[in-house]
Amino acid sequence: MVPVDAILTNGVVLTMDDSYTVFQDGAVAIQADSIVAVGDASQIDQDYQAAEVVDCTGMVIAPGLINAHTHVPMTLLRGLADDLRLDVWLMGYMMPTEREFVKPEFVELGTSIACAEMIRSGITSFADMYYFEDSVAKATAQAGMRAVCGQTVMKFPAPDAESFEEGLERCRNFIIRWLSHPLIIPAVAPHAPYTTTAEMLQACAALAVEFDVPLHIHIAETALEVHNSREENNMPVVPWVKKHGVLNARVIAAHCVHIDEGEMHTLQHHGVGIAHNPTSNLKLASGLAPVDKMLTLGLNVGIGTDGTASNNDLDLIEEIRLAALIAKVQTDDPTALPARAAFAMATSMGARALHIDHLTGSLVPGKRADIAVIDLNRIHNQPRFKRDPDAIYSSIIYASKSTDVRHVICNGSWLMRDGELLTVDTGELLKEAALVAAEIDAFLIARENDVLSKLLAIGELQREESFEVQVKVRLDDSSVVDRLLAHPEVTVVRHSHYRQYDTYFEFEPPDFELVRYREDDFLDGDGNVSNVRARLTLTARGKVREFDRSILLSRSRYISPATRPLRFYREYFKARSEQTIAKERRRWHVDYQGMRLYVNLDHLNEPETEGLFLEIKSRTWSLNDAEQKAAAIAELLEMLNVEPAALIKQEYLTLVET
Ligand SMILES: [Zn+2]
Repeated sequence: MVPVDAILTNGVVLTMDDSYTVFQDGAVAIQADSIVAVGDASQIDQDYQAAEVVDCTGMVIAPGLINAHTHVPMTLLRGLADDLRLDVWLMGYMMPTEREFVKPEFVELGTSIACAEMIRSGITSFADMYYFEDSVAKATAQAGMRAVCGQTVMKFPAPDAESFEEGLERCRNFIIRWLSHPLIIPAVAPHAPYTTTAEMLQACAALAVEFDVPLHIHIAETALEVHNSREENNMPVVPWVKKHGVLNARVIAAHCVHIDEGEMHTLQHHGVGIAHNPTSNLKLASGLAPVDKMLTLGLNVGIGTDGTASNNDLDLIEEIRLAALIAKVQTDDPTALPARAAFAMATSMGARALHIDHLTGSLVPGKRADIAVIDLNRIHNQPRFKRDPDAIYSSIIYASKSTDVRHVICNGSWLMRDGELLTVDTGELLKEAALVAAEIDAFLIARENDVLSKLLAIGELQREESFEVQVKVRLDDSSVVDRLLAHPEVTVVRHSHYRQYDTYFEFEPPDFELVRYREDDFLDGDGNVSNVRARLTLTARGKVREFDRSILLSRSRYISPATRPLRFYREYFKARSEQTIAKERRRWHVDYQGMRLYVNLDHLNEPETEGLFLEIKSRTWSLNDAEQKAAAIAELLEMLNVEPAALIKQEYLTLVET
């Protein structure tokens, strides 16, 4: 008899090997970190002598489950912002909060809590992507779990890197540090094609190839992403990443919700593993990934929980069930994605998707001992039928709950025994998590009450306070403008013609600020839109001062390009009300007495208004300078002989009624 460390016996062993071998009364023998034998309990009992024999009567002995895509430290952000669209959720809440709070200690704490939750759900391996991935790896190894740890690289300043170069360097060092660890597989994680540049994708792919480590990336999560990729790159997402060498690496592609059959072939051809995240896709209304089709084409598809801020838990059994159910509704075919295939996605196929199937994913001799034992002796899983050999899979997929997981072993070590966690002490960790949550709450509450800080949180940050001197005149025709431009002391520097759409967001009193989203559609000589520009301004309501002849001084606190659609700002700011003004504008940049002035001739389309409006304005950074400019504008008005009655005393939004 061969001596071994432990034998799990008398359970239904689901090996998840290539022929889906099941031992109804089976056993698994473990020596050190590996499985040495799998078979009928009586046979194993004859051949091996174990220091410890664990009776698993009435239980399933299965490969430890594999969570194919997650962001584990986000357990600390669970429930922070829900029921939002992906861009508002990510750019408006997650990233600003992360920039403020994510530090190595945060990451370590969140990871430890996630590991506890995942072990409880029978998970032994997962693929992660986050910042300070070194801390994720540390906490994961401490919990005794196996993980593909992806260090994030992106074009925005991240919590752990000011620039892309710094992020890439951090990633390289991270890989070198963990390359030979028994539990941690370091990986490169360019966040997504829309948060990276072509150059960054190339550099990340090269790094992954250099060290032969996986590359973890979000691909085609939303229809908008694909739309934008077509607009900007003239191609959908998969050809774009292929073009930049990404598919030369061993890729784990999360989501792939919006890819066509050609793209699936490309991914299959390059051995890309897919991570399907049903709850996250449902919750963010991203769509339904064509999983049935992917499986038919031979792609390896794993199942992921995604981060807990978009799920909001790490219960993989629930995810497997959802994956199976969604596939049926999606294809209008209840035979689609049967229980056994769904369970494979979370075990053997999941391991292939993560490129770790040489280590884990099935119970076969030689692989690491990564095992989950699930108790079927529960009310919600009785009685049991044996006629259909696959019924055991449906017991797990359709009836089991993560709380039925009884024992978990990873790399030959016990992580949970009889429902008791052995490597993570959650009591203290959860207290710390509550403290972090209170701090984040306070930060967001303060931000929500201050429009400027809300702007800065998402901003491209061109903060600059400036003043505007301006006068408005109501005209019957454009002859006044003709005279102004023909004036010998006025030099026209530039002329443009565009349609301007101003959307003003108004907030609750006592906030006296307005956010304006302004879109200019520039028109060419034929009246066609040749270029579009959008900007955000935060302006103080009303005037700072009024000079002679109704010349007003107003103040703006912030100006930046608007890089997201109007819809984003609408959902993000949740303004009390919104007003839109649309006009067709001819604008001349002119020099007068050594000063740059803007002369605008507007026709109001919305609200539809008779006549024309002349605006003369200038931007300034000091009040002294404002005074001089006001005097120059007053002089011009005098020369043009503008009737005092035509001068409009306006507050920002009362232009039309005046
Ligand atoms: Zn994700």
